[in-house]
Amino acid sequence: MHVSKRLSAIASLVDKGSYIADIGSDHCVVPILLAEQKKIVYAEAVENKKGPYQKMCHEIQSHGLEDVIHPVFADGIEALGEKVDTVVLAGMGGRLIISILEKHPERLKNVSSLILDPHGDLPSVRSFLASKGFLECASMFFYDEGIAYNVMKWEKSSAPVTYCQQEIDFGPMNLKHPSEDWFLYWEKQLRYHEGIASKNLPLEKRKEHLESCQKIRDAIATAKQNIN
Ligand code: SAM
Repeated sequence: MHVSKRLSAIASLVDKGSYIADIGSDHCVVPILLAEQKKIVYAEAVENKKGPYQKMCHEIQSHGLEDVIHPVFADGIEALGEKVDTVVLAGMGGRLIISILEKHPERLKNVSSLILDPHGDLPSVRSFLASKGFLECASMFFYDEGIAYNVMKWEKSSAPVTYCQQEIDFGPMNLKHPSEDWFLYWEKQLRYHEGIASKNLPLEKRKEHLESCQKIRDAIATAKQNIN
């Protein structure tokens, strides 16, 4: 079974002894890896499409893991088991992750951790999670085969969670513990916006790119301060 750097990062954020649900499990790599490492007690591998669901069932059987991993054909978290304490949502757009979590909030009552790998719309995901009382406790920002990923872990907090706009835009844990790849990514974004802003653009457009440049410079400065 091929385990990419991204999937291995997701699995590394799951606590030993967890009861997980992997929503949109597809190839089922994360639950299989965790079950083989004996890191989880129980897993629900959830799919809402026939093809991936059948593939997932086949993978579970061929690894002989039917006692630990239970395939579920359902939409998002609608059928989430009561004992699930950790939900994994990976390899999906940020908007889809939000809509899955928003659709059945009552299903999250026993869930203490969310491990997420949103592809796009990261500020919206962070802002949504904070508004639902989740606090970011870990973030891994890295390149895997030339693509930047931000895998994150959020835990339910007993106190209200508030983040400033910079934390929402760049990630509270990325600013606190920035990785080399995080700097590389934002330095590249900065050059991109600087390049566009230097062109002959309508005033409003130019202003937008200059503002993005300033936000990125400020975030890089915050992160540098935190590592010094
Ligand atoms: N999680 C795996 C990963 O990170 O590599 C697979 C990601 S795959 C790109 C996204 C999967 O999510 C697809 O197999 C799709 O069928 C499934 N999916 C999308 N929306 C879903 C939903 N509402 N409920 C369950 N599964 C969903």
